[in-house]
Amino acid sequence: MHPFTLERPRNLAAVFSLRAQAGRNDARAEYIAGGTDMVQLLQEDVRRPERLVSLAGLLDNRIEAGPRGLRLGAAATMAEVAAHPVVIEQFPVISEALLNSASPQVRNQATMGGNLLQRTRCPYFRDVGYAACNKRAPRSGCAAIGGENRWHAVLGTSESCIATNPSDLAVALVALNASVEVRGPNRQRTVPLTELHRLPGDTPHVETVLEAGEVITAITVPASRVARRSHYLKVRDRASFEFAVVSAAVALEMDRSRIRQARVALGGVGTKPWRVPRVEAALAGASLDPAALRRAAALAVEGAKGRGHNDFKIELMQRAIVRAVETAGARA
Ligand SMILES: Cc1cc2nc3c(=O)[nH]c(=O)nc-3n(C[C@H](O)[C@H](O)[C@H](O)COP(=O)(O)OP(=O)(O)OC[C@H]3O[C@@H](n4cnc5c(N)ncnc54)[C@H](O)[C@@H]3O)c2cc1C
Ligand code: SF4
Repeated sequence: MHPFTLERPRNLAAVFSLRAQAGRNDARAEYIAGGTDMVQLLQEDVRRPERLVSLAGLLDNRIEAGPRGLRLGAAATMAEVAAHPVVIEQFPVISEALLNSASPQVRNQATMGGNLLQRTRCPYFRDVGYAACNKRAPRSGCAAIGGENRWHAVLGTSESCIATNPSDLAVALVALNASVEVRGPNRQRTVPLTELHRLPGDTPHVETVLEAGEVITAITVPASRVARRSHYLKVRDRASFEFAVVSAAVALEMDRSRIRQARVALGGVGTKPWRVPRVEAALAGASLDPAALRRAAALAVEGAKGRGHNDFKIELMQRAIVRAVETAGARA
């Protein structure tokens, strides 16, 4: 592990001052919250910051529910949010996405902010023994294209990077039109979750729209007619402690047996959490008839490109949508 100094600032002003000393170079000073992802990356020498700035004790950890929706402090843990009665009853897709993530030990420690900013699980990114990884070392190439790419993305890829975004929570939040509250040295702002993560293009090392030093302070989820009848379906290689091969977050408003309004987002297939508006439009007005659902789900594959080992995801994601809609539609 590369040596670093652990900084424990007393407030956010001190955090921003420490980050300002690192200039625009994020690699010189990085944040740590629960540490469940960052410590692995330090141990594997993937991240080599000179300073690690701890956010522990500095960010809101409250979970607040009201008529306008849900507000999750960035320091709330995955376990706390998953077990909150309002989240379980009114936003089940969030609770299900969290309970299908990681392990109880990780969920007790990991935070909302850290979950959204966890790094990809691409094995070439996480193993410095592979020289070619544009995300870890810009302009070094991509070992996954032409390599073992069963876990990789089929949507939103570029010739520079085909890594998936690993967060289950982000997929559920994208389906619910959530936003993040962000605070930086000079301003506060709100970023829709659909815009937080960037497509790789030819700069896959730039993963989000966050500016140097900015901190996520909270997640807001607006109240909606679809949130209560929602579901997270995760397909993975083993039943627990595993990332998604394919996942689908679905939220529905029903008019008796017909879908009035649908929201659908996919995980495990995109370089960012992937919303599928054409599928949503096709589902509006449809019944829960499997053939109608299958026709709508087929629209998700627009622009999909397999790289060999991951071709199967193009079929699997359509089946995941159909099953997730059927499950959400059957909810009372
Ligand atoms: C064995 C294992 C299995 C896992 N399985 C899954 C899974 O199935 N699904 C899933 O979604 N996740 C899974 N995870 C990932 C886990 O959810 C993340 O590691 C965790 O959510 C990260 O949160 P943290 O608070 O520990 O973040 P940290 O590790 O502290 O930080 C992660 C990143 O976020 C940045 N950061 C943290 N908080 C903030 C903030 N408020 N503002 C700005 N930057 C911030 C840090 O600088 C760092 O880059 C797994 C992890 C492990 C170890
Ligand atoms: S897919 Fe992206 S993260 Fe993986 S090796 Fe290629 S450039 Fe690196």
